[in-house]
Amino acid sequence: MKVTPNVFEASLKCPTKCWLRATSELSAGNTYAEWVKAQNDSYRTTETERLISEFASNEVARSPAMENVMAAKWRLASSLAVQAKMDSYVLEAELHAVERLPAEDLGKPAEFIPIRFVFTNKIGNDDKLLLGFDVFALSASLGREIGTGKIIHGDDSTTLRAKSSVVVGEVRKRIEQIAAMLSTATPPELVLNRHCTECEFRDRCRQKAKETDDLSLLSGMSEKERARYRMVHFFYRSSREASFLMEMLDGFSGILVSDFFTGYDSMPCPQQKCLVHLVRDLDEDLVHNPFNEQFKYFAQDFGTLLRPIIETVDRFGLKKRHLAKHKRDVGRFLKSIEVLKPDSELVEKYHNRFLKYWPKMFTFLDYDGVPWNNNNAEHAIKRFAKYRRNTDGCYTERSLKEYLILASVLETCDFNKVNVLKFLLSKEATLEGLFRMAGRKTKGSRPADTENETL
Ligand code: SF4
Repeated sequence: MKVTPNVFEASLKCPTKCWLRATSELSAGNTYAEWVKAQNDSYRTTETERLISEFASNEVARSPAMENVMAAKWRLASSLAVQAKMDSYVLEAELHAVERLPAEDLGKPAEFIPIRFVFTNKIGNDDKLLLGFDVFALSASLGREIGTGKIIHGDDSTTLRAKSSVVVGEVRKRIEQIAAMLSTATPPELVLNRHCTECEFRDRCRQKAKETDDLSLLSGMSEKERARYRMVHFFYRSSREASFLMEMLDGFSGILVSDFFTGYDSMPCPQQKCLVHLVRDLDEDLVHNPFNEQFKYFAQDFGTLLRPIIETVDRFGLKKRHLAKHKRDVGRFLKSIEVLKPDSELVEKYHNRFLKYWPKMFTFLDYDGVPWNNNNAEHAIKRFAKYRRNTDGCYTERSLKEYLILASVLETCDFNKVNVLKFLLSKEATLEGLFRMAGRKTKGSRPADTENETL
């Protein structure tokens, strides 16, 4: 198996992307990714020529062979292909350029400095790790240590000199993880993330996530955040009376994320109302009231307010540090609602709804990790909705209660990607046991059971 800079770069963004690139999966392309590549390619060509012009022509070698590199006389090589056979993988790279500094003392070996060209003015951690990859590949191929690497970047061709000892340890660790991942036949778990919008596999992954109704479709949720929502509990109540909620959530100190069911209104904890429900209601009413001009502007303005907030969520996740900047716009919108004079029943309805729920509509701007919708609950309830459709009128209270226990187990297994049959046969009877089978750490947990143990 080959580990190249292309594969390594993908691993810095997402394990699935790394897997797909390593297995040469065809992609549908992505305009942004193509633009970045074109910029980097053109910058590399220009900077290579600029660098070459600084040396005498007999000091430069273009694409030299690696075999005689130790005895080489050149001072600058461009496009130097290196290869090194490691224990379980092969490292392969085409270094943008390499500078060779002859040793000052006779008998000492020359110094080799890999150079990487990056078109951006600002250098990120990924650029430094990629330079680390070049250093590691050259060092493995020459069988000797390489002390320094350089990045030339930006409009001013700024040179950043980096000591290899800082990054090579991390690069080695990451490459070993890539090799371990690629040595198995199973691709890594697909988790949509904030890099997806820039990724060439975006369409493919979104389609796959939709097919499996994957939780990572919930915008802006990190792995840790999703893990918190991986438990489903269905229970039976004989009516829609919500008074039991007070008792059930007594002592609850988190943020309650819910739809607009009035039963939650009196709960004494901070709340976040599902904005997807609200947008859906607005959309439906827009379709049925196409000539209500005031309502049209009302809905448009709300969309204009919400759109950049969701873009921030998609870009940075549910982090109050990034979301807080939208609070001023939210306040401005509220003021415009307060002075609005509704000219129809429909606008009056939304006017009242917004004024009533306003304090519970943008709570997520003040906290880390609070979703702006309750898609996770909606996702879970689908199972019961299907069951009710198929069995309506055919169940008793007892059989319904029994089904709800089973549905809780099935849905929690599903959320944790645990095979239901294996869980049922494992004789595990606790949530902790299920989490252990999912490979999640639990309080005072013992190591995850082996497949044989659970069977
Ligand atoms: S689209 Fe997203 S999940 Fe799929 S490979 Fe790219 S970054 Fe990974």
